[in-house]
Amino acid sequence: MLHWGAAKSSNTGRPVACTAVTLARNARCPSTRPCQHTYNQPSRHALYTDRGQPTATEDRIISGEVQEDEDDSLDTTLRPRRLTEFIGQEKLKDNLAIAVQAAAGRDEPLDHILLYGPPGLGKTTLAHIIASEMGVSVRITSGPAIERAGDLAAILTSLQEFDVLFIDEVHRLPRTAEEVLYPAMEDFALDIVLGRGPGARSVRLSVPRFTLVGATTRYAMLSAPLRDRFGAVYRLDFYDHDAIGAIVRRNAGILEVPIEEEGAREIAMRSRGTPRVANRLLRRVRDFAQVRAEGRITAEVARDALERLEVDALGLDEVDKKVLLTIIEKFDGGPVGIETIAASISEEADTIMDVYEPYLMQVGFLQRTSRGRVVTRHAYAHLGLEAPPTANTAQQALFE
Ligand code: ADP
Repeated sequence: MLHWGAAKSSNTGRPVACTAVTLARNARCPSTRPCQHTYNQPSRHALYTDRGQPTATEDRIISGEVQEDEDDSLDTTLRPRRLTEFIGQEKLKDNLAIAVQAAAGRDEPLDHILLYGPPGLGKTTLAHIIASEMGVSVRITSGPAIERAGDLAAILTSLQEFDVLFIDEVHRLPRTAEEVLYPAMEDFALDIVLGRGPGARSVRLSVPRFTLVGATTRYAMLSAPLRDRFGAVYRLDFYDHDAIGAIVRRNAGILEVPIEEEGAREIAMRSRGTPRVANRLLRRVRDFAQVRAEGRITAEVARDALERLEVDALGLDEVDKKVLLTIIEKFDGGPVGIETIAASISEEADTIMDVYEPYLMQVGFLQRTSRGRVVTRHAYAHLGLEAPPTANTAQQALFE
């Protein structure tokens, strides 16, 4: 496994040259200073200056998406296993608990469920929880992983009665595979066409009764026929600070890191309402606390660590600011189309829509209008800029 470690220390305060070394999984970086991490993910490892300050991260620490080569063993350790351990999303949990109990009471599989919301909010976790609450196995796949209809047919026929099939990014399922899913969801059947041309005939095979849990970050991209076949649709919202604080404290307990109430709160405030981000920040703060503060996470330690990671008090990082500043500086605050923003900051429009935009809209810094994205006055204030009196606001854009 590649690890980028500090190569040498010259005490100048400038970023030191980094070197790639090969590490066994979870092994400690051999460089003595300042990389005292067990990180084995080069893309997320901060490049440390020779004074021990992180200067850059290649992947965004505050992204809700799973990052390449993320330490999934820790993720598994921290993942709640039962509905009672799942913090927040109270309404969803209540509805799910009733549905699970009712289905179990009738000895039927649970209705197909669609979960949608930004990445990192707990969709995969819920699929696992649903399976364990029903006492069945879960089979995990994703829309892009299924290339042909036959791939999906093979998965469906290998399921056991009542199993949960989790399809992440279900909006990216190829159309031919989607068509296999319709009769499977409705009648637990597969329609196979034998032969070609006028002599072709269709044979119906039955598949075990199962529950499909589909997850998507883009509800609108789901085709109507697929959407209609889900018995229940749940939207996951960003978590409030109390819920994230509770998740941070729970996970600090699992990781056996002493944490003060205010330390957890400090992490929670910067986690963008996203458990995956909270977990990632907690790990980084834990490292910092270990090296600099005898392992204890206080408010000050958390603040210090997060400032070094360039995550501001609202959880915004440089890229969020770049999005806002680009709209302000190049497009007079908007309205401007998403593709134009994407091209201006060399990002993919999809990434902006999935990762950056939902949170910027949640905190009221960005608005989506029919004519494009508009930066709000709150964003100007947060960035320490004065909003020009003629600055576009979302309302103006609506009426222009
Ligand atoms: P998604 O599938 O929506 O991208 P995941 O289910 O993979 O998100 O969740 C990311 C991580 O966040 C999980 O490893 C889990 O530890 C944590 N997590 C998510 N939701 C919760 C929650 N409600 N309570 C505690 N931890 C959570």
